[in-house]
Amino acid sequence: MKDATTSEPASPARPALIDRFGRIKKKLRLSLTDRCNYRCLYCMPECPVWKPRADILRFEELHALVGLFVGQFGIEQVRITGGEPLVRKGATGFVEMLQSVRPAGLRRVSLSTNGAMLSRAAAPLAAAGLDDVNVSLDAVSAEIFSRMTGGGRVCEVLRGIESARRAGLGVKINAVIIRGLNQEQVVPLTEWAVAEDLPLRFIEFMPLDGRGFWSEDKVVAEKEILASVSERFDVSALPRTNDPASYYLLDSRFQLGIIATVSNPFCASCDRVRLTADGRLFSCLFASTGVDLREALRAGRFDALDSLVRDAIWNKPPGFIERRNRGRGEVSMNVLGG
Ligand code: SAM
Ligand code: SF4
Repeated sequence: MKDATTSEPASPARPALIDRFGRIKKKLRLSLTDRCNYRCLYCMPECPVWKPRADILRFEELHALVGLFVGQFGIEQVRITGGEPLVRKGATGFVEMLQSVRPAGLRRVSLSTNGAMLSRAAAPLAAAGLDDVNVSLDAVSAEIFSRMTGGGRVCEVLRGIESARRAGLGVKINAVIIRGLNQEQVVPLTEWAVAEDLPLRFIEFMPLDGRGFWSEDKVVAEKEILASVSERFDVSALPRTNDPASYYLLDSRFQLGIIATVSNPFCASCDRVRLTADGRLFSCLFASTGVDLREALRAGRFDALDSLVRDAIWNKPPGFIERRNRGRGEVSMNVLGG
């Protein structure tokens, strides 16, 4: 806890969710499942062992936690993620359940998806009250996409994106770039996004994969991504905001984002917390363990939940800066939710 000699803010009267570095949490990433229909090389273990169903929080339990995070801790935005959230039966109904939390201060409900099941799900999700989707698309080449995702079909994802747009959902595209796998897709992906007028963010490969595949030399850093894009577009940097991505203007008209967690970590203004499908709260993507909320939740001990959450967030580590020399994390991205 706080050392009175430091310049960190005082802990006792914390109105919102704040950590010892003064970062206030406004966004919750909520994983519905660790399961997925894809096997992305940079995410899933080779032979995943799924969490037992009894450990996974029921929708009513997740709804209660969202109510707590919004009503008591000032969270304003929820991003539903996974694994692949759309493989969990009832995901759309859960989006509908979350609408009841809006009067308490929930402003945005978003979803991160691999897009494979989106063509059928998009219209019901929009009708249920979803605001927007982030779709992962690491290649426009069918062959490279299949290799990256362990057999995914890019045509299905493109169809899903089209359905989401037709349903009136906001759509953003995320692409993880890995040396030796899809680095040559940087320009084709950018050209595609510009032609489709869809926001695109490239993400540096983080040491959070489940198969020990990560190494620093596989990271295609922001600078390299920019160098590739500059061969095809006129690029100028935009002022940095609190967004995890740096933004660049291409040909004076298209905004490209790059999330450079490894080469240029931007943890100083992190406003996110993460809850796994089995009810563990991770204050940081790079935290070594999560704090179990399930036990207190199932026992109806809401007073205990309050201090578990506040203490976990208060003790949030600085971020990737601290973690950089420790290599891969113990929990892979399909559990953490991105
Ligand atoms: N299944 C959904 C999807 O793929 O969008 C949601 C969950 S996925 C874990 C969330 C995000 O994490 C995706 O954008 C994915 O590309 C990203 N991701 C997964 N593993 C990563 C890694 N090792 N480094 C960087 N990003 C990663
Ligand atoms: Fe599944 Fe998303 Fe992980 Fe790919 S990145 S394996 S789609 S959870």
